[in-house]
Amino acid sequence: MAPDYPARMPLAHLPTPLMELKQIGRDLGVPIYIKRDDFTGSALSGNKIRKLEYVLAEARDQAANVVLTCGGAQSNHCRATAAAAARTGLKCRLILRTDDPAHPPALDGNLLLDRLLGAEIVWITPAEYRAVDTIFQREAAQLKSQGHTPYIIPEGASNALGSWGYIRAARELKNDLEQISGSRDGVTSIVIATGSGGTAAGLILGTRLYDRFAEVVSVNVCDDESYFRKKIGKICETAIERFNLDIPFDRKQDIRIVDGYVGAGYALSRPEELALIRDVARREGIFLDPVYTGKAFYGMVSELKKDPRCFGERIVFIHTGGLFGLFPKAAELAPLL
Ligand SMILES: *Cc1c(COP(=O)(O)O)cnc(C)c1O
Repeated sequence: MAPDYPARMPLAHLPTPLMELKQIGRDLGVPIYIKRDDFTGSALSGNKIRKLEYVLAEARDQAANVVLTCGGAQSNHCRATAAAAARTGLKCRLILRTDDPAHPPALDGNLLLDRLLGAEIVWITPAEYRAVDTIFQREAAQLKSQGHTPYIIPEGASNALGSWGYIRAARELKNDLEQISGSRDGVTSIVIATGSGGTAAGLILGTRLYDRFAEVVSVNVCDDESYFRKKIGKICETAIERFNLDIPFDRKQDIRIVDGYVGAGYALSRPEELALIRDVARREGIFLDPVYTGKAFYGMVSELKKDPRCFGERIVFIHTGGLFGLFPKAAELAPLL
């Protein structure tokens, strides 16, 4: 039975294209497609818009006039939220993490865009970020005392409501795959970068709601497998309960995580990851980003080199965006060019 979708605020350009990565698939010996969620918009680009369509609909229904959210200094989610807020007439306050709040990073990449979009920025340390809920409460209380109605969006818009963005994307992708000639037997895997778990949760729920047309493989770009099994598991279980979804779910069986590709750490690049970003640009004309899709793609390619069928007969890599994160890496990329 088709699920009852919650209210949605249309923001993304949908459906996004599905393309074949012909050269790379031929090299690796397995058909690889790429779902271009980097095309969900220009300022709004990437996977966060799909989640924000549901979260901001709730903010609107609660008559909020300010949205609050959080992330790293180069957060794609924060930039997308700032852009969506500007477009829908909301104020936006971003709580951003940096080592030394007295000396915030230079205006570059997403941070430059946040400021262009008029977002207010509150800088906090990584230690404060670990208790970011306290900061949210403090900022929300301050906004209320000024007569505002704040709405808090969790990191990455990764909660049960936001996961609807990728439940809907699963439906869209199932339809895309049906248009590809010579529909195949055997397993199709959807490979994604995972940072806060909402995209993975939505896709796991969505593939199960739509006849289990694919398996979901998450390549984590921070933390580790056990962290994400909990994080993704919690979002799925909350969504199943809150929205009465009629699907079986088991944290152990239904979540597949490919760990081992965090590399130097969150948002830190290794030369081999940057070299792959360069090679994908040169061979396919597609830009991956250094923080998420570049690492996930690197992980996927490394696993396929060991076993071309480790993800089944056909792969869909979702390009979740992040392009603006390339620019702050210019100095690191330069020696490879
Ligand atoms: C946030 C982000 C991800 C990770 O998605 P989550 O739902 O947070 O796991 C992947 N790619 C890009 C470009 C992102 O900005």
